[in-house]
Amino acid sequence: MNAVELINKKKERRALTEEEISFLVESYTAGEIPDYQFAAFLMAVRLNGMTLRETGALTGAMIDSGDSLDLRFLGGPKVDKHSTGGVGDKISLILAPLVACFDIAVPMISGRGLGHTGGTLDKLESIPGFRTNLSIKEMYRALKRVGCFISGQTPEIAPADRRIYALRDVTGTVDSIPLITASIMSKKLAEGIDGLVVDVKCGEGAFIKRRRDAVILARWMRKVGEKMGKVIVTVLTSMDQPIGRMVGNGLEVWETVRALKGRCEPDVLELVLTLGSRMLMIAGRADNLQQARDKLQSMLESGKAWDKFRKMVCFQGGDVAVLQKKNAFVKAKYQYEVRAVQTGYVSAIDALGMGVVGIDLGVGRKRVVDKVDHDSGLEVLKKVGQAVDRKEGLVVVHSNKPLDGFFLDRARRLFRISKTPVKPPRLILS
Ligand code: URA
Repeated sequence: MNAVELINKKKERRALTEEEISFLVESYTAGEIPDYQFAAFLMAVRLNGMTLRETGALTGAMIDSGDSLDLRFLGGPKVDKHSTGGVGDKISLILAPLVACFDIAVPMISGRGLGHTGGTLDKLESIPGFRTNLSIKEMYRALKRVGCFISGQTPEIAPADRRIYALRDVTGTVDSIPLITASIMSKKLAEGIDGLVVDVKCGEGAFIKRRRDAVILARWMRKVGEKMGKVIVTVLTSMDQPIGRMVGNGLEVWETVRALKGRCEPDVLELVLTLGSRMLMIAGRADNLQQARDKLQSMLESGKAWDKFRKMVCFQGGDVAVLQKKNAFVKAKYQYEVRAVQTGYVSAIDALGMGVVGIDLGVGRKRVVDKVDHDSGLEVLKKVGQAVDRKEGLVVVHSNKPLDGFFLDRARRLFRISKTPVKPPRLILS
């Protein structure tokens, strides 16, 4: 087998065999296939797709590229959550410690920014000292001592996803149902969990824009996971405006801190309760979804999830003292308030455009080797449905470099204002 032959096969829309897919993944992970050939293969998959069988084989090959966690020693339930990628999506940061408060182990292996969407690891690294490269031994210890961790793929766990993910990020090959399925499922199934809740984002700010494609993505993730003996629950949610108020690494950690201390934005809370209640149900910690939501809400209010978050930060080497300080996270050199030029109601916010503006500010990467800027980002002052007066602030742009009027006008144009009242969009689709 050789890479060119297999790239050509996919280019000609022919299905690859399990052996061929294993060859590609193994050789790429071992450094025997260069980035340019694997990027060509990824683009062929992006354009021509894969069958469900090929997607299962790709997931299996990516899991086999490394080891899996064996969490049987913990005894209790082990459940995780993942999102297919959103703008302002800090839900994992809140959910991992919150759900761990119910004696459910949450071994959360996460990713970096991908395309226009933010990455959980990049966000957490805005906490000074926070390590996202735990070894397997440290992951086991974190689960025993804290009950949860949030870390990246290691050289031992799903190393193929780590390399492929970074390449997809900068080659326009993120928005692909088979590639998203294999990426998420490989790192999650290597965690040794009993079940997984997947937040399948759908809309302009998501990788998958059309509802019918998001339904297929959800079905494929369930099928691939269930074939491997796991309980997979998918929830379709709208990604048509940023989640919460903050978009940016340090800014989102600050929003997380506020949420864990009881000041949670309504849409953030709704996602936390919707996804968290499914996690509690998988773990057998509630009899029905309403009871699970009530339990989560009281736990959040009790402050125990905030304590758990600080324990997790401390275990992973982060500076816990700075979590109390707004100016440790909201500290970009320049903060520009962008104002409305007319009175009315916010009828739409371009979430994709906001993600792209974020990348230009340094929130995400344009090349594999780029470093992210932890301070920059956007703070949304008005969400869809809210009334706004002329000259009232719509968004604050946080940046470490000075911005010109042209850039700020781009930020202004992310907001559409209508003269008549607008209903906020539905967040949970199904
Ligand atoms: N999250 C992942 O881990 N992988 C993807 O491909 C998309 C979102």
